[in-house]
Amino acid sequence: MLLKLIEENKPIDKVVFYDTGMEFQSIYDSRDKLQSVIDSYGAEYIELKPNEPFLYSMLERKIKYRNKTGFHFGFGWCGGVCRWHTSMKIQAIQNYKKSLNDDYIDYVGIAYDEPHRFDKAKSEGKQLPLVDWKMTEADCLAYCRSKGYNWIEHTSNGDIDLYDILDRVSCWCCRNKNLDELRNIYKYLPEYWGKLKYIQSKIAEPMKGENKSVFDLEKRFEFEDKWLENGNKLRTKDFYNSLKEIYKCSI
Ligand code: SF4
Repeated sequence: MLLKLIEENKPIDKVVFYDTGMEFQSIYDSRDKLQSVIDSYGAEYIELKPNEPFLYSMLERKIKYRNKTGFHFGFGWCGGVCRWHTSMKIQAIQNYKKSLNDDYIDYVGIAYDEPHRFDKAKSEGKQLPLVDWKMTEADCLAYCRSKGYNWIEHTSNGDIDLYDILDRVSCWCCRNKNLDELRNIYKYLPEYWGKLKYIQSKIAEPMKGENKSVFDLEKRFEFEDKWLENGNKLRTKDFYNSLKEIYKCSI
């Protein structure tokens, strides 16, 4: 959205990036690459952050129980119905906007094929240039790539573009990641998989629900690799029966 706004010579005073602290490295690389583009357009780069580090809030922050006395430590996994960091992000952006005393145009990069997001954004007075340009998520990705942007992660397993293995690029620890995305993280991004295991070792609740901790998922993915090596097919009745029998899990 930013690159095309610049291409169309639209007025841009400030470019705001909210850093959760849990972005993939390639997101930070893209941010850094954009700095000179933003500077030469004469816009100001603003970076917002949470008041406390994500991991601290996730694992250590002292939190009072809602419906009983006492405390627990850390909000735990973020995603699903408990998107605690999303609330922090929205609050930080709202606070920033309140600090701007002028009228401003609030451009947001919602794509043309995300209609479920249009009404809320428009009721909040946001402008949706990608929707005006009828650019879908795939169009945006192709456009960015045509401009020399990519989301390459350099890992011990080689280089991989995040958009080739994930449906959406969000925080690497996001609980909303689906099984295919998590399998790809296990397979292609071993360093991030190791970090997910670290987080799981600190949180009792399994990342994806009952019997679906990061460690359970790892067992499943290892099993899948062996199953395929033996010439079998995934997602068959035999596959699920064997998975259940060997690992006592029903993922
Ligand atoms: S992307 Fe996921 S982990 Fe990150 S703030 Fe949003 S819901 Fe939370």
